[in-house]
Amino acid sequence: MRRQHRAAAWLAAACLLVAAHGPAAAMSDLAERYVKLVLAVGVHDADYVDAYYGPPEWRAAAAEERRTIADLDADAAGLLEALAARGPPPGADELEQLRHRYLTTQVESLRARLAMLGGERFTFDAESAALYDAVAPVHTEQEFRDVLQQLESRLPGAGPLLGRYQAFRDRFEIPKDRLGAVFAAAIDACRARTVERIALPAGESFTLEYVTGKSWSGYNWYQGNYRSLIQINTDLPIYVDRAIDLACHEGYPGHHVYNVLLEQHLVRERGWQEYTVYPLFSPQSLIAEGTANYGIEVAFSDDERRRFERDVLFPAAGLDASQVDEFYEVMALAEKLSYAGNEAARRYRNGEIDAGGAAKWHEDYALMSPERAAQRVRFIDQYGAYVINYNLGKDVVARYLERRAGADPAARWSEFARLISSPRLPSGLTQ
Ligand SMILES: [Zn+2]
Repeated sequence: MRRQHRAAAWLAAACLLVAAHGPAAAMSDLAERYVKLVLAVGVHDADYVDAYYGPPEWRAAAAEERRTIADLDADAAGLLEALAARGPPPGADELEQLRHRYLTTQVESLRARLAMLGGERFTFDAESAALYDAVAPVHTEQEFRDVLQQLESRLPGAGPLLGRYQAFRDRFEIPKDRLGAVFAAAIDACRARTVERIALPAGESFTLEYVTGKSWSGYNWYQGNYRSLIQINTDLPIYVDRAIDLACHEGYPGHHVYNVLLEQHLVRERGWQEYTVYPLFSPQSLIAEGTANYGIEVAFSDDERRRFERDVLFPAAGLDASQVDEFYEVMALAEKLSYAGNEAARRYRNGEIDAGGAAKWHEDYALMSPERAAQRVRFIDQYGAYVINYNLGKDVVARYLERRAGADPAARWSEFARLISSPRLPSGLTQ
């Protein structure tokens, strides 16, 4: 009797332990499986693992094992079943529920990437839905023509609009020998504005490098331990508006801050291993690019930006500061052409136009120089439907934050910080 009682007490204690720690422990096992799966996909796809700062031996093991795509897909299917069977732990807080859904969606996206690596062809929209949990709206040529018409009257003169637009842009190029000073000033301002509103951990920093021969114009490589390597591609002319764009987008409050906060709040405070890896072709990228782009507007109102450009960046670049307003009025119009790039990519990926046709689309409807249009087509060749993450991502994030915070700058900053410290998905922002 006594022995039985003891056994029952032991069993009850064991059950309590399982209730308290079991589901959490199970989630950490699943998170580890996910990290190893992402690393294994990275063996087949050099662009897939954008960042990883977990145990280095896991990456080495993935390279050594070199598992087949079919084997990885079976493993991913098993992981999805295990996730579905467990669900979020009972009494889970909002972040834990988001965590479960996020992990499930990331694994579904990983399976789509495996299918592509295995040779399956997706339409542009099917690819973006499967990889990024979002589909870009369709825009017609007529919508772009309307914007082009407005630019026609804004930039009068002889010859085709593309030439006039390029000549206008060329007046605002940052001379190569001034790039360092202009970027340093932009980064200082973006950082100062960010740390006023978001508490960043001690020791966060990044290194800046100038590179050539890339299909992108800038890249943040997060290294872990609150450090980033930011690279800027100098193949093509860099215009003055790119200074704040790049400083905010790649640095503060964009990619660098996003990765730092995920590491601080999710990896270190909660021990969630899955955030030590960042698969580029996944829903996480729409949030990353969307917040990086919208972060520019969180950091600077239109007026503040123009004032800063006039007082600091234009002089640092040796440009005529009296032309700031004219420049940004034209740029605001040109930004309305950003979706033309998605349309070109959609037609190109769907096989309706070839590479030459895609480049021409970028020239005709996005007013890109032939060199920039060619770079853009190389980007689509390498990254596919990833292009939607920039403009659709920005719009999705903007609508989400404006709905929650209105126009109040302090509320916008706090909602922004909350968004980039949590495992949210594109479809979660539109509900
Ligand atoms: Zn980016």
